[in-house]
Amino acid sequence: MSRFPQGGPQTVRILKELSKRSLDAKKLAYCDECGACTGSCPVVRIFPRHFNPRVFFNKLFLEFANVSTETDLWLCMMCYRCHSRCPHGLKLPEIFLSLREMVIEQGYLQDVPSKLQEILEILREEIPLSLVYTWLCLRPGEEEPKRDKFDTAILDALQRHIMDYKRKEVAPSPKTTKDKIAIIGSGPAGLTAAWELVRRGFIVTVFEALSEPGGMLRVGIPEYRLPKEVLDAEIEHIKDLGVEIRTNTAIGKALLFNDLLGEERYTAIFIATGAHRSRKLRIEGEDMEGVVHALGLLRQVNLHKQPRLGEKVGIVGGGNTAMDAARTAQRLGAKKVNILYRRSREEMPANPLEVEEAERSGVEIHFLLTPRKILGKNKQVVGAECIRMKLGSPDESGRRRPIPIEGSEFTIELDTAIIAIGESPDTSFLPNEIKVTEWNTIEVDPITLETSLPGVFAGGDVVSGPASVVEAIDAGKRAAISINRYLNGARVKFP
Ligand SMILES: Cc1cc2nc3c(=O)[nH]c(=O)nc-3n(C[C@H](O)[C@H](O)[C@H](O)COP(=O)(O)OP(=O)(O)OC[C@H]3O[C@@H](n4cnc5c(N)ncnc54)[C@H](O)[C@@H]3O)c2cc1C
Ligand code: SF4
Ligand code: SF4
Repeated sequence: MSRFPQGGPQTVRILKELSKRSLDAKKLAYCDECGACTGSCPVVRIFPRHFNPRVFFNKLFLEFANVSTETDLWLCMMCYRCHSRCPHGLKLPEIFLSLREMVIEQGYLQDVPSKLQEILEILREEIPLSLVYTWLCLRPGEEEPKRDKFDTAILDALQRHIMDYKRKEVAPSPKTTKDKIAIIGSGPAGLTAAWELVRRGFIVTVFEALSEPGGMLRVGIPEYRLPKEVLDAEIEHIKDLGVEIRTNTAIGKALLFNDLLGEERYTAIFIATGAHRSRKLRIEGEDMEGVVHALGLLRQVNLHKQPRLGEKVGIVGGGNTAMDAARTAQRLGAKKVNILYRRSREEMPANPLEVEEAERSGVEIHFLLTPRKILGKNKQVVGAECIRMKLGSPDESGRRRPIPIEGSEFTIELDTAIIAIGESPDTSFLPNEIKVTEWNTIEVDPITLETSLPGVFAGGDVVSGPASVVEAIDAGKRAAISINRYLNGARVKFP
């Protein structure tokens, strides 16, 4: 039964307007307030006082007048974790996005800069990457011409905040203990833990294998989605607080893991090394010139190199990395960019908003097919032999298993094949005492994030497998709390 008629006339009008923008908004009327969205949301874990999707959506029906200024509206990180848990399959991030656009475009929220200021203050109390968070969360259209009033308003306000932030001086945090903490990896998990711990008086060093800090925020997410000046400004503030970041220092190569606890005398370690190992297709021709791995390509472009791609590019995979690689290939001059995905649109792991944007920019997505062989001439890619697939029963991931349709083979022409079928962590630098799972992720206590080696904690993608920035931030915060307890002699293990 629809709840629309229960609100006042303004609520009914507004919900109708929202329904025109987001098909899922209509389904909101059937929300039975089960709370599964709130229970599964990583943002709720970080900002429990400011974000609660279940309560927020209820307010839509009861007191719409205040909705445009509700903090909740501006904090959803679009991670889609709630989607699979909602009994009605509601796509809450899309409703949040439409509602945000609507309140700005229709003038319900006029003072965007003040609202952003308020949001940033809330974020800054809890996390170090407030501007990164806001940028990824609000997704302002990055290219000219700006799409609408929403993009213009958000971009203008954000630019102003970035300038203010760059000018702001940060005093170093006083060191109140002699404990030294080593953090391996400078992605959002490592940076968040470093920020939390340095503010608690610890001596914190972050070891980073690459030449620049930031993890996937630096080398994965492309510049057109997250300007690097935003990341640089936030990392500078973390360093100003007193965190030392040693780049070009891969643990396992430049320094051994056991040396951190031994001669380097670190009293606790947080492993936040992410998932940077690209999975291979394991098909004939994969080692030819013109076959590249998506993460390698994105990394090169993000580190200011200009890899050369051909005009006809095929991307194998259906996740966020595939979407970013496709749009990056377009920017590198590819004329025809096709994504080849072995399941259907419904099973695609990519964020639907990213898929939509890729398609809008001219990327073609072909479902239910996979390459069987990369074809080449003189060791250079010239195409791929593909086979069509059908879907069978669900596999261990819960998605329907793709089954090849024998006899349906066909070939496509390609100059470059980009492999984007997933990433896994590299844990080869760890000592045997640290247990890893069959997926190569690190086993941790789910509450404290302590590994099987006392005093060593782990979190972010290296534990969860590829996930999201907000989940990595959450892990960094939780690890810092556990390390603080551990070094202060409090019990870390929970029964
Ligand atoms: C292309 C792409 C786009 C994405 N887009 C989004 C998005 O829009 N929104 C979102 O929420 N999430 C997105 N993600 C996911 C998100 O970036 C990750 O989930 C998040 O960065 C994980 O954080 P982390 O700190 O665990 O690891 P990472 O960010 O991966 O950082 C790990 C760091 O550890 C370093 N390291 C590894 N091994 C060693 C070693 N032995 N010694 C020293 N340093 C080491 C690595 O070089 C890296 O800098 C995207 C991911 C990719 C690949
Ligand atoms: S999309 Fe993510 S951040 Fe937004 S409500 Fe759902 S779980 Fe929370
Ligand atoms: S999970 Fe779905 S039904 Fe349950 S409270 Fe959230 S939106 Fe409503």
